[in-house]
Amino acid sequence: MHEPELLGMLEALAFSAARHRHQKRKGRLASPYINHPIEVALIIVREGGVTTAPVLTAALLHDTIEDTDTTAAELAERFGEEVASIVLEVSDDPALSKAEQRRRQEAGAVDLSYGAKIIRIADKTANVRDLVDDPPSTWGVRLRREYLEWTRRVVDRCRGTNEGLERAYDDAYERARRTHDTLALDVLRSGRPDESTP
Ligand code: ZN
Repeated sequence: MHEPELLGMLEALAFSAARHRHQKRKGRLASPYINHPIEVALIIVREGGVTTAPVLTAALLHDTIEDTDTTAAELAERFGEEVASIVLEVSDDPALSKAEQRRRQEAGAVDLSYGAKIIRIADKTANVRDLVDDPPSTWGVRLRREYLEWTRRVVDRCRGTNEGLERAYDDAYERARRTHDTLALDVLRSGRPDESTP
């Protein structure tokens, strides 16, 4: 990677950290939100072997349009059209209900560009790992299982993009499914109701 590209990526990291500064992850650890885009970029390099600057830059910025007041025009001006368009592709429309956002993500996955598919698979891998290691604190077993199966349908529609990333997702899925099955059994045995709150 050449110096201007490295500089652009570090600027994207600083920009994303500033925009997400008031946000935490939904797990009990409440880790700083920026850890998530960093993790997604790490998965893309480590497990996908992808080192192209626009994809990694977009990975660091991938939740800025959806979760902060950042606009696509602003990203285009600072980081170029390619990065802005990838981030826009992976952004849900906040005006829609959660159910509709999920439905559209699933239906639209097949039409994403190469860079957007890479980010989509890595994002789902990071979130599915979190589902085991630090799940959203208000999600019970049922919501976790629904989320898990939805991520699988989205990733299935992105397949044929990057073997390493798809394997990383599959491993994360299997681990989450096994963990979930144990949890579901515990809930059943305890006689307590599932604590899910949507
Ligand atoms: Zn994300």
